[in-house]
Amino acid sequence: MSSPLVRGSPVQVVVRVRPLLVHEHTQQASLGLGEDGLVRVTQGDVSFESRYDAALGPSRSQRDVFDTTRGCVDSLMEGYNSSIFAYGPTGTGKTHTMLGSRVEGEPRLEQMEHATPGSTTATISYMEIYNEKIHDLLQPFKLEAKQPFKGMVPRRTDLQIRSAKNGAVLLPGLSVIRVRDLQAAMDLVVRGSQNRATRHTEMNHQSSRSHSILQIALERKLPGQVVNKAPGLLKSKLNFVDLAGSERWSEHGEMTHARISEMTSINQSLSNLVTVVARLTEGKPSHIPYRDSKLTHILQDSLGGNCMTIFIATISPALEAFDETVSTLKFADRAR
Ligand code: ADP
Ligand code: MG
Repeated sequence: MSSPLVRGSPVQVVVRVRPLLVHEHTQQASLGLGEDGLVRVTQGDVSFESRYDAALGPSRSQRDVFDTTRGCVDSLMEGYNSSIFAYGPTGTGKTHTMLGSRVEGEPRLEQMEHATPGSTTATISYMEIYNEKIHDLLQPFKLEAKQPFKGMVPRRTDLQIRSAKNGAVLLPGLSVIRVRDLQAAMDLVVRGSQNRATRHTEMNHQSSRSHSILQIALERKLPGQVVNKAPGLLKSKLNFVDLAGSERWSEHGEMTHARISEMTSINQSLSNLVTVVARLTEGKPSHIPYRDSKLTHILQDSLGGNCMTIFIATISPALEAFDETVSTLKFADRAR
């Protein structure tokens, strides 16, 4: 059992270490995790140590991740927007942390099913940002539900971002699919993820070079409140953001034009995310450059203010990952 992080500081950071995989032989000589969120890594005379809001070791389950981050689900239920990010190099467990293994099920969604009263509508959207273009991950599939966008031709790719008068971020054309139960939600998540994988095979690039955002939105009728002759609505959403791999791409492979443009857009969007998060943490809510990248622009209504934001920095326990581990921990340290 892990104690949940509660809304407090604008950004909270959890470090998660995945288990050693079969082909990795050498565990880091010194990777120490404390109950109090202290993480220490040492290799020879190089050492890095910092304290985070929580640290989860290789034996911790998806349930432990859920218990730690459930504050975001509670926020969603209470009508606030929130975001959970997975940040780390490719292969350290970002996707595993966000979506879980099918065997274990997905405790976050189970929790929502049990806590959602009948007057609440739940919808799911799932998108990907690759090279600063937003793609719908649910659109290529036949929709069971009636398409919720009215009089609008659905688009799959290069979606544009608009802002509503109340500051809400809109993505006209993005599939917003109503889900009635947990199974329907899981089916969409699986299909969107498969589509992400297919797209990457077709385009000959790895999912590690795109960000994906899974949005779960709730809309609850407020009894007794009438706005414009209709019942008042309480709207909130929770974003699960699986970020592009944070490894330095310049160190890998041939530098084609396409690679350079991918690399630049990943570096820019991750560094803009860092800037946005740092400004929020410093408590300087003006001059936050949300619009400098698609990622932060989409999340503008879900970062800062009353929103709960949790970063999960994922690291590998393998010795050969030491340098990446230290840079991931340093990033996570800056986010707090
Ligand atoms: P990323 O999305 O960061 O590239 P993945 O989530 O795909 O990484 O994880 C890489 C591999 O490690 C996968 O085979 C995944 O199943 C495994 N893995 C990651 N985290 C865990 C974990 N906590 N427990 C067991 N296996 C894990
Ligand atoms: Mg992944």
